[in-house]
Amino acid sequence: MKPIGVYIHIPFCVRKCNYCDFVSYPVVEGHVRAYSEALVGVELGDACGWLKASGRVVDTIYIGGGTPTAVPSRHLLELLRVCKNDLPLEDGAEVTVEMNPGTAGPGYVAELLGAGVNRISIGVQSFCDTTLTYLGRIHTADEARGCIKAVREMGCRNVNLDLIYGTPGESLDELLHSVAAAISLGPEHISVYGLSIPDGTRLHADLLAGRLTPVAAELQREMYEAVREALAGAGYVQYEISSWARPTFECRHNLNYWRLGEYLGLGCAASSHIDGVRRTNIADHLEYARRLSGNKMAVAEQETLTRKQRIDEAIMLGLRMREGIDLEWLLQREGYDLASERSEQIKRLLKSGLIEIEDGWLRLTDDGVLVADEVIVWLV
Ligand code: SF4
Repeated sequence: MKPIGVYIHIPFCVRKCNYCDFVSYPVVEGHVRAYSEALVGVELGDACGWLKASGRVVDTIYIGGGTPTAVPSRHLLELLRVCKNDLPLEDGAEVTVEMNPGTAGPGYVAELLGAGVNRISIGVQSFCDTTLTYLGRIHTADEARGCIKAVREMGCRNVNLDLIYGTPGESLDELLHSVAAAISLGPEHISVYGLSIPDGTRLHADLLAGRLTPVAAELQREMYEAVREALAGAGYVQYEISSWARPTFECRHNLNYWRLGEYLGLGCAASSHIDGVRRTNIADHLEYARRLSGNKMAVAEQETLTRKQRIDEAIMLGLRMREGIDLEWLLQREGYDLASERSEQIKRLLKSGLIEIEDGWLRLTDDGVLVADEVIVWLV
């Protein structure tokens, strides 16, 4: 049986955060109902049949958003019921739900855990109220603490906290306070992302209007190094550029992405990667629901990856992980000998201490991680 991950997109949020360009929409009862009926009743139903017929076994499910827990629990419970009963689900599969503080109380969490969820990823972003307000989050730091404690008390044994660094106005001390607060709550996994300010967001409008000064690159780098040191000091192992975990608690769903495994994306804007073909659904949630309820496909784009695209992805995603790229695996998979194809660049990167090669694995060094994007440009 071939393993595959399943991603399910729930595109609803209580309010749009100031930095967000994810596909998310306001919670409108009728829209949630129509979306849920199309997702669970049509797309997921079809997927269950296809997965079984194709001999795949689902080893991870990731319900992300948006904010999945912004919708009434009955929608997620129905989704989880169909997943449990009809998907070819591996015993012990990792089943993650993303939630945000301020959207789900202990009762909601208990229902999710009872329905088979075994990992909860909480979007905390910061434990500093000024930063949370600046980012447009709907919760305070105390509410985030309360949410994490409730998730624990309800019995969840695998918790991730997301943090953001590099918010304009945030000092290094404030960031370290947030990291220390996260560590003190004992999650199994912590993800820390640098703030990006994409086009079309409120922060981007502020940037264009000169009301926002981005954090200087040097300070961003200092912050990243300080985060890395604090998390390592607390026993978290970095396994990817933005991800740290207690041993054995790495996110299996994300590892599958980075190792170029197969995944099936369900819901609006969700992407799939199956048999070398990448397919993405339309982003508009209402059009998605209309199409599926009218027995039409909701696919917006589909492309068969070329060999060059597959090699570039293997290099880009492989370098994100601290384990790096297995050179023999790449040779077997694509017939591509990276060490000889990029021998000059590799020599220089080795000399400058940005990469290392050990037992056939090429990976970024601690210094290389700080300039990962530049190293990737050299190697693709
Ligand atoms: S909660 Fe997440 S998905 Fe929703 S608006 Fe905020 S950043 Fe975007």
